[in-house]
Amino acid sequence: MHWADEVAERLIESGREIVISTGITPSGEIHIGNLREMITADAVYRAILERGKSAKFYYVADTADPLRRIYPFLDASYAEHVGKPLCDIPCPCGRHPNYAEHFLEPFLESLSELDISAEALRADELYREGKYAEAVVTALEKRDQVARIIDEETGKRTLPEWSPFVPRCNRCGRITSTIVKGFDAEAGSVEYECKCGDTGTVSVMGGGKLVWRVDWPARWSILKVTYEPFGKDHASRGGSFATGKRISEEVFGFATPDSVIYEWLSLKGMGDMSSSKGNVLSIGQMLEVVPPDILRYLILRRAPRKSIVVDTGQPMLRLIDEYDRAGAQAESKRAFELSAIRKSPPADVPYRHLVSVVQIARDDPDKILTALKRSGYDVMHREEILSRAGYARRWLESFAPEEAKFDLQDTLPEEAKNLSDGQKRALAALSERLSENMSGEEIHQLLYAIKEEFGLEPKEMFEGIYLALLGKPKGPRAGWFLSALETEFLKKRFAEAAG
Ligand SMILES: [Zn+2]
Ligand SMILES: [Zn+2]
Repeated sequence: MHWADEVAERLIESGREIVISTGITPSGEIHIGNLREMITADAVYRAILERGKSAKFYYVADTADPLRRIYPFLDASYAEHVGKPLCDIPCPCGRHPNYAEHFLEPFLESLSELDISAEALRADELYREGKYAEAVVTALEKRDQVARIIDEETGKRTLPEWSPFVPRCNRCGRITSTIVKGFDAEAGSVEYECKCGDTGTVSVMGGGKLVWRVDWPARWSILKVTYEPFGKDHASRGGSFATGKRISEEVFGFATPDSVIYEWLSLKGMGDMSSSKGNVLSIGQMLEVVPPDILRYLILRRAPRKSIVVDTGQPMLRLIDEYDRAGAQAESKRAFELSAIRKSPPADVPYRHLVSVVQIARDDPDKILTALKRSGYDVMHREEILSRAGYARRWLESFAPEEAKFDLQDTLPEEAKNLSDGQKRALAALSERLSENMSGEEIHQLLYAIKEEFGLEPKEMFEGIYLALLGKPKGPRAGWFLSALETEFLKKRFAEAAG
């Protein structure tokens, strides 16, 4: 059974109302590593709905978190904002209401493109609306108990001035430089003192926030969360899940949600993705080169505990071709179903071939379809094929290794003027024996027959073909490549190259 189905059944069996929650801090570009949390939760959500049950699905944006430091993508003017909540900081481009929204907007757009229908909640709004008010008062009242749990789980000692609540200074706006001096549970107010010299009171409704270790379990009890996937950084010994579990149960009296720990996604050769390391692939960049259903599949075909290495080179094309066959194979069928976005007919052309064809046709839609027809593909689903061709073109531009790129030469290239005698004889034979409507496979067989007949090494044989057409010694799989080109053109070119 697919892991998402196992979780769905377990949640249904529990008999509780199902509430799935996810959370990502919009402190920088939200990347495809972060997306694993959303897609993992969404697969479970879908599996529940498919069983005729209902569930709530939230994405909580941690908009009240402070800016930790000046990230590499920020200019020096952000120094004065370090320590302020993300929702109170100006947006880097000037077109969004605040810093958090600047990163949230493209992320929420990607979620919709990926058909993930989580309800987006903003932490700062939850605080301002008073959703957290009771939890803040409880945490302040039980401060010593909370501190003891954290000490026991982490093996460290919280400082005497530590508080589960961090007030936002009325003067400097920071939540990282205040200490709590007292609170009034009746009035819902907290007294603070700030390093900037200010003292004052703030409301428990938006005048600050709970620290992460307390915020997370408070959120479970507020939203009644029963399932939440989270990254392995929270799962370590003494990590926020360990303390969160005890705080939820012992302080807030709420059962810890069912959960799954997911592994990281990394970029081939670049390590785990991390906004602060700058080695990230944005969701937007990824959706330029792979359709959204395939991005879902990239994540859903692996169990959450398995790490995923994203290779944007040739393996990306293999992934796309794998997806096209996945629905028909027992082991990948379920991941395929949970990835599907719309019931569109598949563009039944191998991706690697499409990458050749868009280059042959120089992106002209009619020429793309003609070339595909020539190679024997059904081009009835015109829109799907052209849409896929667009992905192939963008892949070529952003990620393709040099060897995947070529330029079909209009005249016999200079490089083809020094072919060996063997190459010339082989090209002459090829020129004579090629005929209209040969499939890629048939041409492939023909090339091998000619190679044998003239006693050429495969490399020598193929090099002659590529030099004659592309002016470089390597190119796409020859039989299929030639099948997409006009027979008359090929016959003429090979005869010319043979002299
Ligand atoms: Zn902006
Ligand atoms: Zn201050």
